Order: sequence, then C-alpha cells, then structure tokens
Amino acid sequence: MAADCLFCKIVARHLPSTEVYRDDQILAIRDIHPVAPTHVLLLPVRHLDSIAQAEQADRELIGAMHLAAIKIAAQEGLDNGFRLVINTGHDGGQTVRHLHIHLIGGRAMHWPPG
Ligand code: AMP
Ligand code: ZN
Repeated sequence: MAADCLFCKIVARHLPSTEVYRDDQILAIRDIHPVAPTHVLLLPVRHLDSIAQAEQADRELIGAMHLAAIKIAAQEGLDNGFRLVINTGHDGGQTVRHLHIHLIGGRAMHWPPG
C-alpha cells in the first residue's frame, strides 16, 4: 500500500466505498461523483501510479481489468454500449495517482472528449 494514496486506502477498506466487484487483484467501486448513470472505477489492488508505469509483468493484470469491466458493464445492463477511459498524467486529466479504468455508461457519449 502506497502511503497517502486515496485508492490504496479504499482497497484496504480504511476508507469507505461502494464495492461492485473484488478479487485478489482488482477492486471495482462506484465513482463518488458519477458523470453518467453507471460510473464504476476499476483499480488494481497493487498500487501502480498510472498506466504509463505498466510493464510486461502487468499484462495479465491489465487484461483482467478490461475483462472485469466488460462483465460489470453486462451486469449494469449497458447493452447499448459504454466507454472505458484511463486518464493518464497531468495532460490526461488524471487526478488520483493510482491506476484506474473508468467504466461509464447509461447515456449516449460525445466525441471528442473535453
Ligand atoms: P481521474 O480524474 O481519472 O484520476 O479520476 C478520479 C476519479 O475518482 C474521479 O472520477 C473522482 O470522482 C473519483 N473519486 C475521488 N474520490 C473518490 C472516492 N473517495 N470514492 C470514489 N471515487 C472517488
Ligand atoms: Zn495506491
């Protein structure tokens, strides 16, 4: 657990969250400020600053996170589609420095994003 990392504290249940899915390597929670009817964050249990820090050894984890997102999208009834987003670094709009995939759905999305 990284000191002073919000999402590490949530993974450790030192802070509250609404858990949607958990296994030994992934936690999925509801975003506290949802931007759509479904807004779930998928986090690796092990701290990684961002997707930019991912290495070959993280291949299985990154694949598993995407597969978990697909499963949750189905559970949430997002049959018309959804969006997966990984904000990365300052220019990518990342505000929490613990890798997470946003799963957003339940309304039509626009492109390009802001
Ligand atoms: P990002 O800007 O891509 O780093 O996304 C961080 C996301 O974390 C934002 O959508 C926030 O609303 C969300 N967030 C921040 N604090 C919490 C929290 N305590 N529980 C759940 N989601 C959070
Ligand atoms: Zn962390």
